[in-house]
Amino acid sequence: MYNQYQEFLQKELTAIQEAGLFKNERIIVSPQGAEITISTGQKVLNFCANNYLGLSNNPKLKEAAKHALDTHGYGMSSVRFICGTTDIHKLLEKKIAEFFGTEDTILYAAAFDANGGVFEPLLGEEDAIISDALNHASIIDGVRLCKAQRYRYANADMNDLEEQLKAAQSNRFRLIVTDGVFSMDGNVAPLNKIYELANKYNAMIMVDESHSAGVVGHTGRGVTELYDIKGKVEIITGTLGKAFGGAIGGFTTGKKEIIDMLRQRSRPYLFSNSIPPLVAAAGIKMVEMMSETNELQDKLHENTAYFSQKMIEAGFDCKPTQSAIVAVMLYDAKLSQQMAAKLLDEGIYVIGFYYPVVPKDQARIRVQVSAAHEREHLDKAIAAFTKVGKELGVLK
Ligand SMILES: *Cc1c(COP(=O)(O)O)cnc(C)c1O
Repeated sequence: MYNQYQEFLQKELTAIQEAGLFKNERIIVSPQGAEITISTGQKVLNFCANNYLGLSNNPKLKEAAKHALDTHGYGMSSVRFICGTTDIHKLLEKKIAEFFGTEDTILYAAAFDANGGVFEPLLGEEDAIISDALNHASIIDGVRLCKAQRYRYANADMNDLEEQLKAAQSNRFRLIVTDGVFSMDGNVAPLNKIYELANKYNAMIMVDESHSAGVVGHTGRGVTELYDIKGKVEIITGTLGKAFGGAIGGFTTGKKEIIDMLRQRSRPYLFSNSIPPLVAAAGIKMVEMMSETNELQDKLHENTAYFSQKMIEAGFDCKPTQSAIVAVMLYDAKLSQQMAAKLLDEGIYVIGFYYPVVPKDQARIRVQVSAAHEREHLDKAIAAFTKVGKELGVLK
């Protein structure tokens, strides 16, 4: 059998390559940070990591992880409900709830699992899930595993959301689901308006704060802080894999009974391993650091404002951002690839995104700003963008 199947796969892979959609991985040989070393030996400034607060190689987090390695060992060899729960896991769940102003938290191996395991145990075929069209792939997959009726509204389009809520009025329970920050544009979900509509049409809200936690809001508590509705949405999901240290792990935090039910019925929680205690310990340290000082969040906000303002002044077409994502619009797919390659030659590591990751003729370079970046890093990136932009005719 495999001979035939191999041929089939080879054809598919060639087609991916010929369409210019083949993803190659660049090899990094240093810790994650503002400056990284890639396997060619080149040192580059990293502008494509989700390392928003610069915590991925933070000494205090590493120390907390090392300490837990000594006190609690390396792995749990169990799911949570058999023998995979330590005092460290319980404390991290409590700390995450404190961070978001929620009632309780449940940890997962990843946010992909949190989203994959949140819908099916909570909603049935009498119910409705009303989902933003640009929600993350893991939300889409999670919704597919659930029997609830599906409604979809155009990205952040409140008129459309209202229409869908009207259409879902005969359902038993309604849950509106949205990303906090949409990762390709860097725009924030209009959660204040979603909240009003949820009240008007008797619905609950779930927001995925993966890209917004640590970033959005004055103290980085996410979109519920930005719109002053902390503790008011029923469900928040998020990741430890982005601003929160970047290692691994996800969570769902929110109303007590919802979390209680997920512990009983959520399949990725019941059937997948507990996160290593050292990761949980670093997570606790991370929340503690963010409770003591707002330094990193402030620096990130300043850096993002500085970078996007200077890029716009230089003549680039940047999408307005309320996150740490700055989408530099180029529209042409090939141009986005050329530009990213030339920027790498200049020591700036960014990625060009094009169809099908973004809509056709909406190609762009997505820049991700970090608190790890110093002013000189930002200036170097802006200068490189300007130089390459002129070479490629993007700037006059
Ligand atoms: C990154 C991301 C995830 C997945 O997070 P992992 O912990 O890496 O699985 C889920 N949802 C959103 C919105 C994300 O941006």
